[in-house]
Amino acid sequence: MKKNKSDILNFPRKLLSPIKLFLEKELVKSKRIKKQLKKNDPFLVGDRTNENSFEDDLDEQIGHFDNEIKTRFLSKQIVQFRKALTRMKIGKYGICEKCGKMIDTDRLAVKPEATDCIKCSKEREA
Ligand SMILES: [Zn+2]
Repeated sequence: MKKNKSDILNFPRKLLSPIKLFLEKELVKSKRIKKQLKKNDPFLVGDRTNENSFEDDLDEQIGHFDNEIKTRFLSKQIVQFRKALTRMKIGKYGICEKCGKMIDTDRLAVKPEATDCIKCSKEREA
């Protein structure tokens, strides 16, 4: 008997579409916030003068640093959302990209953009 594609151990399709919508929404949101951050970077904002007081300079430094951390975080998120959406497209959503095992649904519930299982994720961060 021919094996039906949808019979393969896979993430239930019914559950996929709301996750897909969520990921797409988050992707757009992240991109928007990133753009906003770029615009608000005190180092790039036009009214910067050379006569800043020490406090102003410090504020700018902190603002810039804060901005950079957030931007970096968002960039990572954007990549991750895209990756998860791609996995969905090729029918591999919910499967760990490293070891090929199913990702725990509890993990996906809190982190729907995850493309690796807890074990592999921990190994990567170690
Ligand atoms: Zn894994």
